[in-house]
Amino acid sequence: MPQSIRPGERDDDRHDRTRRISWVDMEGVQRARVLVVGAGALGNEAVKDLMLFGFRKVDVLDMDTVVRSNLNRCVLFREGDQRSGRGKASLVAERARDLYPEAEVQAIEERVQSLGPVEMQGYDLILGCLDNVAARLHLNANSYHAGVPYVDGGTDGFRGRVQVVMPPLTPCLQCGMNRSHFKVMERRFSCTGQDTVFYRPKMAAEITTTSIIAAVQVREAVKIVSHRPVMEHVMHYDGLAGTSDILSLDIDQGCPNHPAV
Ligand SMILES: [Zn+2]
Repeated sequence: MPQSIRPGERDDDRHDRTRRISWVDMEGVQRARVLVVGAGALGNEAVKDLMLFGFRKVDVLDMDTVVRSNLNRCVLFREGDQRSGRGKASLVAERARDLYPEAEVQAIEERVQSLGPVEMQGYDLILGCLDNVAARLHLNANSYHAGVPYVDGGTDGFRGRVQVVMPPLTPCLQCGMNRSHFKVMERRFSCTGQDTVFYRPKMAAEITTTSIIAAVQVREAVKIVSHRPVMEHVMHYDGLAGTSDILSLDIDQGCPNHPAV
């Protein structure tokens, strides 16, 4: 061991072990303004990872409250939260600050539809931690228009998916969607009877796949703020088979989010 390094010398630095990864820009991480949309399963895991990694400026948007069936996969919720009447976003923000007191974590208890390009332009990146296609498409279109990187995550039981969208260079979420997604969405809209209510399916969900997908989202976020190449473009994860595949997409000439293409 070199004479200049004593055992434990750097152990007072919270981020010492991360700083040993040469390409990680810790100043960039701490400076970045991140918006997490959705404070459910993926949102809980993503915020936990953001805090432990050292992100300091995080806003969390959700207008739901906790139900007991959330507790199988939400690390920041506690038994009894379902009776508190408090919003998911406010609980996540409060407990995130426990994890990392230097962080400024703000809850935004509003609908996804309240976010337009103007609101998004204040962020360096957006993590989509949503459970339905319509809200994703809203976030995708508006973040693309605002020129803000968008990292979308989704799970369905033991399967998951992450897409990194870097406007104006990469395809967006809508480019990778086939018509069946839209048919399902149209059917769900027609069930609600109005176009301002997003259908919320009760899908299979568990913590192991949630953890993996949210971790990949935060890992890509670290690359974005460190100006490193990001994943191109979609990761499909199959937990039952234990595999993950990367799928490259092209910009869809018919996609309305790329008018100049
Ligand atoms: Zn597109």
